[in-house]
Amino acid sequence: MLETLRRIVQDVSAAPDLPSALAITVSRIRDAMQVAACTVFLADEDNREFVLMATAGLNPRAAGRVRLSRRQGLVGLVAERQEPVNIEDAPRHPRFHPVCEVCEDDFHAFLGVPMIQYRRVLGVLVVQDTAVRQFGSSEVDFLVTLAAQLASILNHAILSGATQELLNPLTTGTRALQGLAGAPGVALGVVTIPHLLADLDDVPDRPAQAVAAEETAFRAAVAAVETELREACERLAPLLPPTEQALFTVHRMLLSSDSLIGDTLAGIQAGHWAPAAWRDAVLARVRLLEQANDPYLSARAEDIRDLGRRVLHHLRAGPGWQPECAAERYVLVAEEMGVAHLAAVPPERLAGLVCLRGSALSHVAILARAMGVPAVMGLGDRPLGRFEGCEIIVDGYQGRVYLNPDPATRQEYRQLIAAEAELSAGLNGLRELPATTRDGYRIPLYAKAGLLTDITAARDSGADGIGLYRTEFAFMVRDSFPGEDEQYQIYRRMLTAFTPQPVVMRTLDIGGDKALPYFSIDDKNPFLGWRGMRFTLDHPEIFLTQLRAMLRANAGPNNLRILFPMITTVEEVDEALRLMEHAQRELEEDGWPAARPQAGVMIEVPSAAWQAAQLARRVDFLSVGTNDLTQYLLAVDRDNARVAGLYDNLHPAVLKTIAYIVAAGHQTGRPVNLCGEMAADPGAAVLLLGMGVDNLSASPVSVPRVKWAIRSFTLAEARELARQALDLDTVGQIRRLLNDALRRAGLGEIVHEST
Ligand code: PEP
Ligand code: MG
Repeated sequence: MLETLRRIVQDVSAAPDLPSALAITVSRIRDAMQVAACTVFLADEDNREFVLMATAGLNPRAAGRVRLSRRQGLVGLVAERQEPVNIEDAPRHPRFHPVCEVCEDDFHAFLGVPMIQYRRVLGVLVVQDTAVRQFGSSEVDFLVTLAAQLASILNHAILSGATQELLNPLTTGTRALQGLAGAPGVALGVVTIPHLLADLDDVPDRPAQAVAAEETAFRAAVAAVETELREACERLAPLLPPTEQALFTVHRMLLSSDSLIGDTLAGIQAGHWAPAAWRDAVLARVRLLEQANDPYLSARAEDIRDLGRRVLHHLRAGPGWQPECAAERYVLVAEEMGVAHLAAVPPERLAGLVCLRGSALSHVAILARAMGVPAVMGLGDRPLGRFEGCEIIVDGYQGRVYLNPDPATRQEYRQLIAAEAELSAGLNGLRELPATTRDGYRIPLYAKAGLLTDITAARDSGADGIGLYRTEFAFMVRDSFPGEDEQYQIYRRMLTAFTPQPVVMRTLDIGGDKALPYFSIDDKNPFLGWRGMRFTLDHPEIFLTQLRAMLRANAGPNNLRILFPMITTVEEVDEALRLMEHAQRELEEDGWPAARPQAGVMIEVPSAAWQAAQLARRVDFLSVGTNDLTQYLLAVDRDNARVAGLYDNLHPAVLKTIAYIVAAGHQTGRPVNLCGEMAADPGAAVLLLGMGVDNLSASPVSVPRVKWAIRSFTLAEARELARQALDLDTVGQIRRLLNDALRRAGLGEIVHEST
């Protein structure tokens, strides 16, 4: 059964389009289970219906025509129950709904299984038999397992718009692809893949600009690979055994195969650009070989894929590949993105970011917020690479993107973008004003920074200083650990740019989702592993170098505050302070006397929250890192799109924990700051003010909005809001309380319901 299952899933995944995938699904299941009919219904969410899309055994003309309302018939029952429905004699069941087009009079046994992905019923898979009988448990298990796998394939098709085209071929209009809100804002730009992925599946469809030029480019790429293979073969001949050498020969033979070249040229003649024609020719052969289910032929399929990538690589390097890079505004789209990808593009042309993985708390999203670039995360497995060069709308509030938007959608978003720009321009007037409540209480409002390029944005935002400088970003865009002098230069620029305003520099916080390209941390469970202070205390040489660079940079500006991340125990703080004193002493001995800066501890782990008072006594301030604190309190990986719906820093437990930390900090006479993303949410910022948090740090782009919110409330109102919020049971209730308060205070424009 396992093997049958694997083969069916493989064949369905390899189908060239959705109709073929569905046709393969029903016929293969009918054969494998030896039943009279197998049928697949897809959910049409727009019309709240299930549509019969493919059948093997019922009237084939019913496909696309039979529509059942969501609650109709046995299919509706399966969707309602969200579990298998196994019926001996369907026509006698009270929910049976006869449909004349399908001619199912002879069918009695019925087994329907829902296809569910992320709690949504995407469709229903049905098998029917002529006998009056119950399906056996192994049959049910088989269909359930298959349905779960098919659901993820189907989800892919939904996301790429294929199901919509099939369900409602006559409706036009742009479909939104739903992901997660990553960084606020809306943008319109051109899909751009940030680096040379050279993967066949990512090649976009495009027409050939000039057939002759495409042919020439293709022949040149093939010739280049031929040369490469010949040279490699010659170079390696003395070193490789004959069997390995044969591999090069196979590749060269494949490359000289008339059919592969001929099909590509035919594709070009038919009007496709060379990469897509090559992709189609290669993948058609790969599919054929994979279907043979023979280990030898499967290996050949991999050879052809490999060859496909090699030629593609040369085509990509050719002149025709990236005309869209000339686009005015582009949107980077990738499965995963690192700081280096962002740092490598001219920021003034970067309109938005779309990441198939990750969530709002992934570092790339945090960086996007710092740069003021709208971002959508966690779109899931979608072949977005194929849309390179197409227009895309990024809605960072709702976590949606629209590919190739229709004129009405484009116009709507253009207006939104203009309204946003107007609001930002209006808020510019607050730049010189403090974050003071209507009754005169001033809360310092700081900006966050990660790269030196953030200095300007942070200064322009009208912030009172830097509340969190994430030093690791400078470590992440290099290919080795930066030395003391290099770090000194960076920190010095940062400190002098803001003096006399404070700059809180956090010591290196790597691990978790922050990887250094030159130092791999291979933890099975990275968020519970070698992170932040745990790493730096184990590597005092790296920590001391950083501390020395910071202390040296502070001689003169004298506005440095040092912050220790990921603290779990008091011993870690004692050790970190001991090393800080050690660095100070060393510098003195070297003739660079350095003042002792204020030091603080990040509270981002539950154990640290419960020991907030003990920790606070050892340092000058606490800083609550709600990004991690929420992750650890709720046991929700901040980087996992699947559970992102559970991640919310307005969770009552998070609020209660913050309240506890504030009380503990204040008991010991230490200020409690908050530097997680929560502070960038205007409603949450007012709440935190009311809870007694002493200062807030938001990304520069959010500073004006947060300031606007704070200036719209009195401290007494904020305290009352906090009192009410701490009494509520759910995130939804708290969110509504805050949104209503913002609206009443005249800030309806910045209320985004989905956030
Ligand atoms: C936090 O955890 O809230 C925080 C500010 O740190 P980071 O997001 O860099 O882990
Ligand atoms: Mg953190």
